[in-house]
Amino acid sequence: MQQKIWLSLAHMGGQEQQFIQEAFDTNWVVPLGPNVDGFEKDLEGYLGGEKHIIALSSGTAAIHLGLIQLGVQPGDDVICQSLTFSASANPIKYLGANPVFIDSEPDTWNMDPCMLEKAINERIQVTGKKPKAIIPVHLYGMPAKMDEIMEVANRYEIPVLEDAAEALGSKYKGQFCGTFGEFACLSFNGNKIITTSGGGALVCSTQDEADKTKFLATQARDKAPHYQHSEIGYNYRLSNICAGIGRGQMLVLNDHIATRREVNTKYRKFLEKVPGISFQSNPNADFESNMWLTSIIIDPKVAGFNREELRLAMEAQNIETRPLWKPMHLQPIFEKYPFYGNGTSEKLFENGLCLPSHPTLSDDDIKRVVGVIIELSSKN
Ligand SMILES: *Cc1c(COP(=O)(O)O)cnc(C)c1O
Repeated sequence: MQQKIWLSLAHMGGQEQQFIQEAFDTNWVVPLGPNVDGFEKDLEGYLGGEKHIIALSSGTAAIHLGLIQLGVQPGDDVICQSLTFSASANPIKYLGANPVFIDSEPDTWNMDPCMLEKAINERIQVTGKKPKAIIPVHLYGMPAKMDEIMEVANRYEIPVLEDAAEALGSKYKGQFCGTFGEFACLSFNGNKIITTSGGGALVCSTQDEADKTKFLATQARDKAPHYQHSEIGYNYRLSNICAGIGRGQMLVLNDHIATRREVNTKYRKFLEKVPGISFQSNPNADFESNMWLTSIIIDPKVAGFNREELRLAMEAQNIETRPLWKPMHLQPIFEKYPFYGNGTSEKLFENGLCLPSHPTLSDDDIKRVVGVIIELSSKN
């Protein structure tokens, strides 16, 4: 059996252990500490210095604390992209609110701005009140159509919480993903573009929001010498050890993006002539995906094979691939909630596959992956 090719792997730059060693040497083996402060500063600088960033234990925690601050209450509607990881939607339910799912448009595979407006109008008619927040996602690093989404959101005065968990370093019209909404979440889970082994951050627009996030994430402790609480808090801060990994990863973030983009370019070149294969692509120069995961769509009528046949052929060659996220409106736990769509995300799910895409993938690895597709194609 040939060596396993993984879908996505963490890749350490080399400096990570030094930051961790510093934490040990200074006995900052706790949540909070100089690495947490340093990591937040690094992220703030990277995103252009206008935003305030609070490092948290996960991207999911970031969405949760963002929604709390947008005033989401039990029974409220919160609008969420359907084609995404369940972590985008779960925090809506933590708060007892109701998700309203929106289909994707075919250009970026992200939230369809027309469906968004339709959903807002209909939900206002049905419930008599506006949805409390909108959660667009930048899937696999591809920026959503933020101009259109923000225009609708602003017109109805509904705040946006961007799920930029997969899109650190991606840009839309020259502006970083994660800086458009009132809030945005980032994730540093094991397989994301950078990792802290596990972690996330909430991108905030104001100092007050950042202070409140910190407060909520550290058990909502009032200013008093004893432990006093007037609000429900959470234990959501990032540890100083994990933040040390994050500081090291920030030094190689741009390299990681460059290599993921190269991987994407190579796949495209090798698969150019294979019939029935298309890629998730930047629709035009306004969109600059970090190309976190290269994802393809198989048109089975043209290709002669379908997504599952390809996935199994990869598996037989010890290559890990994965279908696109299964849309939330098709998930057993979420299928009873409203969905506004026209079949786009369903088709993407049926025919889409994520290919191995990480910085340590060699040219030979890429050729092995491509070889499986070409062989399947030539048999049909
Ligand atoms: C990874 C991810 C999250 C959640 O991040 P965690 O750090 O794993 O909690 C949220 N949304 C999307 C789209 C993700 O891919």
